[in-house]
Amino acid sequence: MNQPVLECRDVCFSYHSTNGETKALSNISFQINSGEFVAIVGPSGCGKSTLLSIIAGLIKPESGEVILHHTQQQKIGYMLQQDHLLEWRTIWKNILLGPEITGTLTKEKEALAKRLLTEYGLTKFKDKKPGELSGGMKQRAALIRTMVMEPALLLLDEPFSALDYQTRLMVSGDIGSIIRKTGVTAILITHDLSEAISLADRVLVLTKRPASVKNDIPIDLTLSEHTPLSARNAPEFKELFTLLWKEISDEYSEKSS
Ligand code: ADP
Repeated sequence: MNQPVLECRDVCFSYHSTNGETKALSNISFQINSGEFVAIVGPSGCGKSTLLSIIAGLIKPESGEVILHHTQQQKIGYMLQQDHLLEWRTIWKNILLGPEITGTLTKEKEALAKRLLTEYGLTKFKDKKPGELSGGMKQRAALIRTMVMEPALLLLDEPFSALDYQTRLMVSGDIGSIIRKTGVTAILITHDLSEAISLADRVLVLTKRPASVKNDIPIDLTLSEHTPLSARNAPEFKELFTLLWKEISDEYSEKSS
């Protein structure tokens, strides 16, 4: 558990366009250990998605480093707000897309895909097209497509935000439990503070843009066994919510002052 998987050291990044420079990240430093589930919250537009794109290797930091320990860039799974399932392929064909493209489609991969379909309750829908599934089911299928690649590090960029509130509660609960069970190291970007508290082991709070790490809050809930949904009944939940809300709202009020 204490083996580091990811280290960000003094990561800085700015966007450059004809309108000038937008500083997005300023000296971001943190470490994530194997098996940890870390949520990242911060004011809207502060640089959260930019940070995830840098960790995924999609963009390079201007300065600083992203160090992956005991893993490679190819072992990073990235799940976005939209499911991006291909409408002309069945769910089964969609979830096997990664192995197909990377030439790693084996009988074992197919067996893993089948097992994940069962675990996520989608076996009955494997021959359907994405358009025939509900939003929550599509997000589950998108997660299977990511998990079939057996990522060592899972990046989740607001994966539930396109869902309606009730579906979001259900799907984030299910997906959170499944991620916990697999023990994969995960980073979740969310603007939903309750979601962050109920799913994560730690919450990193970012400042307004250019983002730096303002606080790193451990989530220690005293419920002995809990699911992401029942975590909301923990005695510490309200206090943690108030603390996180204060951290974020201070950033907004500093912005307007
Ligand atoms: P968040 O995920 O926290 O909402 P982002 O990482 O998406 O924030 O964006 C951080 C800042 O960088 C925002 O002000 C955004 O407008 C700006 N930004 C994002 N992408 C680009 C881009 N491709 N070109 C210029 N500015 C960008």
